[in-house]
Parts: sequence; C-alpha cells; structure tokens
Amino acid sequence: MNSNMTPQSLEEMTVDLDASFKFHCTQCGKCCENRDDIILSPMDIFRMSAELKMTPTEFSVQYCRVNIGPNSRMPIVTLQPVGANDRCPLLKNQKCIVHKVKPSVCALFPLGRYLAIEKEKFGKDSLADSKVKYLLQPIDCGDDSETHTVREWLSGFDIALEDEAYIAWNQVISDVSRQIQKLEKTQDMLTMMEVWFVARLLLYLRYDISKDFLPQMQENVSCLTELLSDIPRLKEVLKNVRRA
Ligand code: SF4
Ligand code: SF4
Repeated sequence: MNSNMTPQSLEEMTVDLDASFKFHCTQCGKCCENRDDIILSPMDIFRMSAELKMTPTEFSVQYCRVNIGPNSRMPIVTLQPVGANDRCPLLKNQKCIVHKVKPSVCALFPLGRYLAIEKEKFGKDSLADSKVKYLLQPIDCGDDSETHTVREWLSGFDIALEDEAYIAWNQVISDVSRQIQKLEKTQDMLTMMEVWFVARLLLYLRYDISKDFLPQMQENVSCLTELLSDIPRLKEVLKNVRRA
C-alpha cells in the first residue's frame, strides 16, 4: 500500500466486507516481476515454510534478504528477486509455487488492509482496540469476468477478517521498533549488529512449523523484549546460539 496515502484517501478506498468487486487474475505473472518490495511478516514466512516443508531459516536463506528499515530500524525481510527481470524467487514456470499461502500482500491484491484506530485512542501504545479495514486498490490488470466479495476473497486464502496475527505483528513493530531506536542512541555499531541478529532470529526464524504460529510469536517477542532491555544478557545468549 502506498505510504503517502492520507487518512482521507484511505477512507475513500475503504470497502465493506460484503462489498463486491470485479476481478479475475489472468495469471499473466506481471506482478511477480520487477519486484523487490514484497515485505514478509513472520506469519508469511511461517506459512510458506510449512507449505514447502522447510524450516523458516532454510526458507529465509533460500528466498529472502534482510534490510534494516530506515524509519522503524527493525529487520525487514523481503523476497529476494532473481534473474534479469527481478522475478520473485517463488515464481516457477509462470506459477506461484506457494499460491495458497502466498504472502498476504500478494494474496490480498486487489485488496489492501490497514488498522483503523479510534480518534481518542490515537497516540496510545496499544493497538488492542484497533479494527482491520479493507480497501480496494486501483486495478490495472486481469479482467472483470469474476465478481467477489471481500469476505469470500479472504477466505479463499485462509486469511481471517479480524486477523489476530496481523494486529499482533503491527503491535510488535511499534513496540520493538521503539526499543531498538532507543538502543541506537546509546550502543555502538557492533552491539547494534548483535541486536539486529537476535531480533531477526526471534521475530522471524525461531518457529516450529508443526506448532501454532501465534503462541510462538508471542513467546519469541516476550523473550526479545527482555533481551533488548538487558544487553549483557543478549550478548551472552548470542554467544550460546553461535556456539550451538
Ligand atoms: S509470492 Fe507468488 S504471487 Fe507473490 S510475487 Fe512471488 S510468485 Fe508472485
Ligand atoms: S494479479 Fe494482475 S498482474 Fe498479477 S498475475 Fe494476476 S492479472 Fe497478472
């Protein structure tokens, strides 16, 4: 979604869950080329790793790259494009090899989503009372031979309307990003490299794909939050991880 969108333009594009829209993906593959902007959430990585019978670490090594967000200062994971036309690495023989569990940003198109926060709760740290809203993006591909509703489109990709993992992840971004930004003001670069390494490990990689995602994310985040407020302990834990 365009980050320059104003609250007004968001509201204008917002659609009800039972609103219908016309769209049929003709599988031309264009949206899977010239892409270096497909940001993955831990849930995306978890679902795709499970589908491909890999661990999240194996998946990340094979298909992803990591940058530090210029504003959030969090590790941001994106799919690593390949070939001359910067093709998504998950596009094989013109087909998405993870179609049923593709990243939410791909699955949602032509929809997008955002968290709406009530005016009086604006600026508060907790997103617990926020609502997931959906919008219809401008469509310039496919054809209009099918009619869908938002509700039915999401269920086709097994995405919950009030997606708990999406809300929880946004909360994590807000909280962890604040902690990391604070650390950057006092810690040297070597320590920050260690912080980002541990953050990436706990936020995106330390999952058992045979178990439920959300409780594992909650445990990992609580562990990370503790370590970010105790840097000597974080260094100790990192030493043990590297030794193992
Ligand atoms: S994950 Fe699938 S749908 Fe998304 S860009 Fe890659 S190949 Fe295309
Ligand atoms: S979403 Fe659009 S660009 Fe992407 S494969 Fe379908 S029709 Fe082509």
